[in-house]
Amino acid sequence: MDICCGLTMVARLQSVYAEEDAVLIHDVPLLVCPTCHSSFIAPEIELDYLMFAHYCATDGVKAASLSHAIGEEKIFSILERYPEDLRCRKGVRVVSEQIDILLDLLNLAIQTKDAVWQEELKEKLQKMHSLLT
Ligand SMILES: [Zn+2]
Repeated sequence: MDICCGLTMVARLQSVYAEEDAVLIHDVPLLVCPTCHSSFIAPEIELDYLMFAHYCATDGVKAASLSHAIGEEKIFSILERYPEDLRCRKGVRVVSEQIDILLDLLNLAIQTKDAVWQEELKEKLQKMHSLLT
């Protein structure tokens, strides 16, 4: 799932410490939500990342760049697929477009009388509202 807080997540390169293998892997594309800051390793390369970390550990390597294993092209294609959005460019965590999307969903939840969903959306709206500056 690459949608979070109503919008597509954004890819960022980060160094990730693979704890199990005790290896620091550089240039790992993560999908990050600029609103709630949740993040995970891009699913497209997660297996590559895990295997690379394992190989590094086997070879006694303590730090390495993922681009050596899978190539820069694959990494760039992920960055291209999840480009920086308005939130990144403006340096804000919430844009009004997100509130609009959530309000539309809330209307739908009310129409379908889905009480649980309504509560979830209201909570999210409140959280986002507190992040709006
Ligand atoms: Zn989020």
